Amino acid sequence: MSAPSLDPTADLLPARMLNEFVYCPRLFYYEHVEGVFLHNADTKRGAADHTRVDAGKGDLPEPAAPTSDTVSENPAGESTTADSKTEIETPSRSATPETIHARSVMLGSANLGVVAKLDLVEVTLEPSFDFGAAPGLARSVCPVEYKAGAPREGETGRELWDADRIQLGVQILLLRENGYTCTEGVVFYRKTRQRVRFVPTAADETWILQRIVAARDCARGTIPPPLDHSPKCPRCSLAPICMPDETRFLQDSIPDAESARSAPIPTQLSLLGFSAEANALANAATTDPAVLAAALGSEDLGWSQLPEPRLPRPAGSGEVRRLMAPDVDTKVFYVNTPGVAITRKGETVIVKDQSGTLAEVRIKDLHHLAVFGSAQISTALIQTLCEKEVPISYFSMGGWFYGLTRGHGLTNVFTRIRQFATAADPEKALPLARLFVYGKLRNQRTLLMRNHVEPPPVALRALKNAATAALVAPDLPTLLGVEGAGALVYFRNVSGMIKGRADDDDELPGLEESVATRIADAQKDFTFDFTTRNRRPPRDPVNALLSLAYSLLTRDCTVAALAVGFDPYVGLYHQPRFGRPSLALDVMEEFRPLVADSTVLTAINNRMITPGDFVRAGDAVNLTPAGRKRFFLAYEKRLGDTVTHPLFDYKVSYRRAIELQYRLLARTLTGEIECYLPFMTR
Ligand code: SF4
Repeated sequence: MSAPSLDPTADLLPARMLNEFVYCPRLFYYEHVEGVFLHNADTKRGAADHTRVDAGKGDLPEPAAPTSDTVSENPAGESTTADSKTEIETPSRSATPETIHARSVMLGSANLGVVAKLDLVEVTLEPSFDFGAAPGLARSVCPVEYKAGAPREGETGRELWDADRIQLGVQILLLRENGYTCTEGVVFYRKTRQRVRFVPTAADETWILQRIVAARDCARGTIPPPLDHSPKCPRCSLAPICMPDETRFLQDSIPDAESARSAPIPTQLSLLGFSAEANALANAATTDPAVLAAALGSEDLGWSQLPEPRLPRPAGSGEVRRLMAPDVDTKVFYVNTPGVAITRKGETVIVKDQSGTLAEVRIKDLHHLAVFGSAQISTALIQTLCEKEVPISYFSMGGWFYGLTRGHGLTNVFTRIRQFATAADPEKALPLARLFVYGKLRNQRTLLMRNHVEPPPVALRALKNAATAALVAPDLPTLLGVEGAGALVYFRNVSGMIKGRADDDDELPGLEESVATRIADAQKDFTFDFTTRNRRPPRDPVNALLSLAYSLLTRDCTVAALAVGFDPYVGLYHQPRFGRPSLALDVMEEFRPLVADSTVLTAINNRMITPGDFVRAGDAVNLTPAGRKRFFLAYEKRLGDTVTHPLFDYKVSYRRAIELQYRLLARTLTGEIECYLPFMTR
C-alpha cells in the first residue's frame, strides 16, 4: 500500500498530539485546535516523571552512513511489541561499540509533517580506534519513551497501547527521516517498570502516515463527537470540559416534539398550541412592568389557562456518568480588612498589618482570592496567582464588584467567535435571552413555593404566566418588561420568606436573653422588614444583603464564563455597557433565586446575620466587617451545597452547576446541541 501524501508546507503536528488523536479525536481537537488543557492525577504524575528526562540538552551525534548490517531486520513485515528488558544488541561488526544516551531530543520533518520531542535516544556509536578522538557518529539509534502507566496485556504478552504505538512510531520515522538508522523503539512503563519493544512493519508505517493525514483533516473540521460511554473517558483529563455523556444525552432526540426540535422557541410553542398566546403578547400594548405584573396575575388572561409550555426534553438513553468532582476542592479566600498587605511567602499567601500576620493560606488550596476595600497586593503574589490560574477579584467595602485579575488562560477561540456572532444577531440572541429569563422566573416561583409562609396564589400564577410570556416575548423590550413584571411580583412577596424578625423571637425556645436584647436594641435602627428592592446604595439590611450576594454571584459567573472560554462582557440578553459583565449577568439570572436569594434567606432566618450586623453611612446600609465575614461563609456554603442536576440526575454543587450551564451554552452556540436548557430545580 502506498503511503498517503503529506503537505510539507503545513504546520508540523506534535507527535504527542497524534498520541491524543489515536486515544480520542475529540481530545486531540480540544488540545491541538482549541488549546484547552487540564491536568488530572495521571497527567500530573506524567509531568513529574518527565522532569528529569526533560532536563537533557537534546544533543544527538550526527548519523553515520547506513551499512548493510544497520538496515531493518524485520523484512517480513511482522510487528514486534514483545517484552524486552534487554538493552539494544551490539552490532556484530563492532569491536568496541559504545552506547550513549541523549535526552530531550527535538526532531521535525516537513516531509512527514510532524515534530517530536524524544524523551531519550539510546545511541550506538561507530567504534573509534583512535584513543582520545572526539565522540563518533551514531551508528544506530533507538528512541525510548517514558509512560506513567502499564502496558496493555495482549494475547502474546505485553503490548503497546495504540496511542503509545503511534507516538513511538512517529519518533522512529522522524529519526530515519533525519538520516539515522533506527529499526526499533522502546516504551518504558513506570508502573510495571517494563520495557516494551516496537519494531514497526510496513503496515505499521502506513497506519502511522494515515493517522497523520486523518489528524490534519480533523484539525481543519469541526469538533468530533464525544466517544459513546467509552471506558477511556473516566481517565481522560478533559472529561469535565468535554462532558461526553451529557453532550450525547442532549444531542439525542426529543420525544413527542420531533418536528419542533430545531425550531426557535416561539415556533415550538406554536407547534405545541401556543400561537394565540404568542400573538396576544406580541400585540400587547405595553411593556410597563407594573401593568404587565397586574395582567399576569389575573385569572382573566385567556392564555394563562393553557398548560405550561414544554421545553425540549432530552431523551438520551443510558446513565450520564459524572466524570468530574461534584465540587472544586479548593477554597475562596476573602480579605475583608482595609489597609492590610497581601504578600507571598514561598507557596503561601500571607495577610498582615502592622501588628503582624493576620491570616495565611497555601496557594495550592486557593480557588480564588477576593479582596474587599483598599488592600495592598504584592506584584510577586499577583504574578504567581496569574501563573497558577487563580483569579483575584476586587470589591469596594460596600460590595461593588470592580473586576478581576487572572492569567492569560484564554483558550477556546471558537466559542468566543460564536458568542460574538450570536450577540450581534438579535434573531439568534433572543431565543437564548428568553430561556435565561424563563429559568429565573421559574426558580423565583419555586423559591416562593418552598419558603413563603403562605405562598400567595396570585403571585404564583403571575410568575408562572410571566415565565410563559418570557418564552414567547417577540422582542427584547417585551422580554425586559416581562422580567421586570416578574421581579415586581417576586420582591413584593420576599418578606413572606423572611422569618427572622424580632416579633418572631418570643416563639423561639432557647433564644438567649442577651442575644434577644442585642437584636432588640439593634432593631431600633434596623429591621429585616422588606418592601421593595432598592440599590446603589441599598437602603435597608435585606437590600444590603441582596446586593452583596448578587455581587458575589456576578463574580462567580464571570469566573465561570472565563473558564469556559467566553468573553463575560458580551451578553446575549444584557446589552453591552462599560464595565458590565453582561454574559455573566445572563446566565446568573437562573441562579439569582437559587444561590443569592437563598443565601440571604438562610443567613437571616438562621440568625447568622442579625440587625446588629449593619451600619448606616448616609443613605447606604452596609454590613459590619464581622457580619460580612459570616455572610461570606453563608454564601460559600450555599455555592458548595450539592443539588441533583435536573437534567443529568447526578449530584453537583451549585458552583459546578453554574460552570455546567456555561458549558452547555457554549455547546449550543457552536451547534453541538440544539437547545440551551436553563437550570431549574424541581
Ligand atoms: S472525555 Fe472521552 S470523549 Fe471527551 S475528550 Fe476525553 S476521551 Fe474523548
